[in-house]
Amino acid sequence: ARPAADDAALADRAHRTERGDAPLVRMKGVNKHFGDLHVLKDIDLEVARGEVVMIIGPSGSGKSTLCRTINRLETIDSGEITVDGKPLPSEGRGLARLRADVGMVFQSFNLFAHKSVLQNVTLGPVKVRRKDRGAAEQRARELLDRVGVGNQAEKLPAQLSGGQQQRVAIARALAMDPKVMLFDEPTSALDPEMINEVLDTMVSLAKAGMTMVVVTHEMGFARRAADRVVFMADGAIVEQNTPEEFFTNPRSERAKDFLGKVL
Ligand code: ADP
Ligand code: MG
Repeated sequence: ARPAADDAALADRAHRTERGDAPLVRMKGVNKHFGDLHVLKDIDLEVARGEVVMIIGPSGSGKSTLCRTINRLETIDSGEITVDGKPLPSEGRGLARLRADVGMVFQSFNLFAHKSVLQNVTLGPVKVRRKDRGAAEQRARELLDRVGVGNQAEKLPAQLSGGQQQRVAIARALAMDPKVMLFDEPTSALDPEMINEVLDTMVSLAKAGMTMVVVTHEMGFARRAADRVVFMADGAIVEQNTPEEFFTNPRSERAKDFLGKVL
């Protein structure tokens, strides 16, 4: 169980998201097809600065695709997406900067296998953010410490456990000073005993005020760490609510059915 102080911090943060700032991520009327498959259907979604939105729903409902459109790993057919008020750039340095602003952590850790942990974390800041190498290394070491793998900096990814690799992937995204972090089922590929170390890292990020969009199958985690739960089915947002309301009082048949299977 989490200490009570965590709950206070999360409640505090939930208030901060209610200040009425312009949304950091805004999707309006977004549609996407893969061939004949209508994979995103009129998606409207706003994520406030500092907010933690968790996306849940059955496999194949479009959760990953939705995430990937936010940093333009997938294009959209219609609608609009803005990050920090600006439409997504489609190419060149603008696109590279977008991908730095919108950090992404995947199910498979996607670390560079032939580079050390430290190099994995410094590469982006040096190449994309044009950071000085010394400064990038210092920051990388701080971030690796923060996610609890500071003593693994000189190793290759394969020498680390899955949980450690995923925390390196989180540090790598953080090194770009992202405005928002996307997590697509970051614990699905992990052995059970390593899931919590990654979830705890995400909770501490949330407490530090990071704006987060998280696709997860970890319902207990969603319930305790989300500001808002978005339930997707068949490419559409079917309902969204506070975790408390969603888990105790789901409204749609789809959500009731889903929760009946996973809880
Ligand atoms: P989820 O993450 O909720 O499981 P996805 O966004 O991965 O769902 O996929 C939604 C649907 O789109 C699924 O039917 C999937 O098979 C299909 N899909 C995903 N990526 C592609 C692709 N690159 N080409 C064709 N179909 C895809
Ligand atoms: Mg997925």
